[in-house]
Amino acid sequence: MSAGNNSFICGTEKIFLDTCKGLPRYKQHDGKDYCVLHYPGDDKVDDFIEIYKHKIAEPGLFRLDSEDDQTEILGFDFRGVYFPIEIDFRKKEFNNPIYFYKATFCKRVSFSKATLKNKIYLNAAVFKDSLDFDFAKNDFGYFLILSFAEFTTSAKASFNTVKLYPSHFINVNPDKFNFTNVEWNFEKRTKDVLREIHNLYDRLDEHPHNYLSQACLSLAKNEEENYRFEEASKLRFMAFEAKRLAGKIRRTYSLNRILDNQQNIKIEARDYILGIGKEKDIYTKNVGDLVCENFSIVSNALNPLYLLYSFASKYGESVGRAFVVLIGIWFISALFFWFGVYKQENKNQITSVNNTAQTETTNSEMKINLSFDKSLIYSTNVLLLQKPEPKPNNTLTESVFILEMILGPIQITLLALAIRRRFMK
Ligand SMILES: [Zn+2]
Repeated sequence: MSAGNNSFICGTEKIFLDTCKGLPRYKQHDGKDYCVLHYPGDDKVDDFIEIYKHKIAEPGLFRLDSEDDQTEILGFDFRGVYFPIEIDFRKKEFNNPIYFYKATFCKRVSFSKATLKNKIYLNAAVFKDSLDFDFAKNDFGYFLILSFAEFTTSAKASFNTVKLYPSHFINVNPDKFNFTNVEWNFEKRTKDVLREIHNLYDRLDEHPHNYLSQACLSLAKNEEENYRFEEASKLRFMAFEAKRLAGKIRRTYSLNRILDNQQNIKIEARDYILGIGKEKDIYTKNVGDLVCENFSIVSNALNPLYLLYSFASKYGESVGRAFVVLIGIWFISALFFWFGVYKQENKNQITSVNNTAQTETTNSEMKINLSFDKSLIYSTNVLLLQKPEPKPNNTLTESVFILEMILGPIQITLLALAIRRRFMK
């Protein structure tokens, strides 16, 4: 109890000791001594506010991982802190990152109308009341890390008129989140999905595509329940595409020898992700640490089922794509029928009447092809399984006939599905 400040080590997790460096022992809880920041009790409010005010006044330097990473960063460090008070960041501007990793918030946390110019780490934090980002100005892009955060049964979150990315919400249950007028900041494009996976590689080395896919499905469910089908559709596209792209992500490193401030030789690694063409510094390490860092993942990118489903309708989520492909099937088939379907009339009999001597040699047949507009109608009938006459006259055209009979109705179904998803559950 009477241990001096010098020998006091806070009972929080070892990695958070930088957060409360220099603070004296405050109280005991469950047999452990804590500083005022990490002490997990509601009876500390006044003492807490005093230290908190001091710490939030300006960003400080600290090490993120006391174990092996010696790089100090500038930001607000509240890792593992137990907040018994309401946190009000309304209309505040943040230029530096804020770390709330594994913090516990007993009361409301508000970033409403805040200007966010750096990352807010709320990963693995526990929320017992509410969190809101209503009308937050997000100039930074990928600003929020809420992955693995936990919301107790009475807690909720609100996002109103704010730009978001699905990768903000990895392994979080968004069922009680309220999304109003949210802009999911991506299009139904492969490159946007790759960007999201890329964002996650910083923190999730293993299977970020699976995490992303799962997050997108949960978010889509939420949007759908609020009748925002367009948004839900986008999210579902990303869920499928992330799964397909599992193998397209490959890390390769280019290594440069550099000198750090203390003139030690270090290795700077650059990270290339296929499909983005963007390179990104990931870390510097001491020489010798970088062994066998290259890896790639078994490819799913060329899985024919995913590819076909994606090509034909963007996983049943794009009306435009499904329609264009249907028109393509119909029109290309019609071209084949134009040349490959004809009536054969034997000129033989006509000539034989006029001139018996030539009957044997002019055993010629006259091909009467379909006119172009007739071939379009012919193709339509095949599409609608009407089996038009005459039958195709060669194997190639016959194959096209059968293919259109199979693919046409499937494509019509995909189109119907995409239309339906746009307007209802
Ligand atoms: Zn502490």
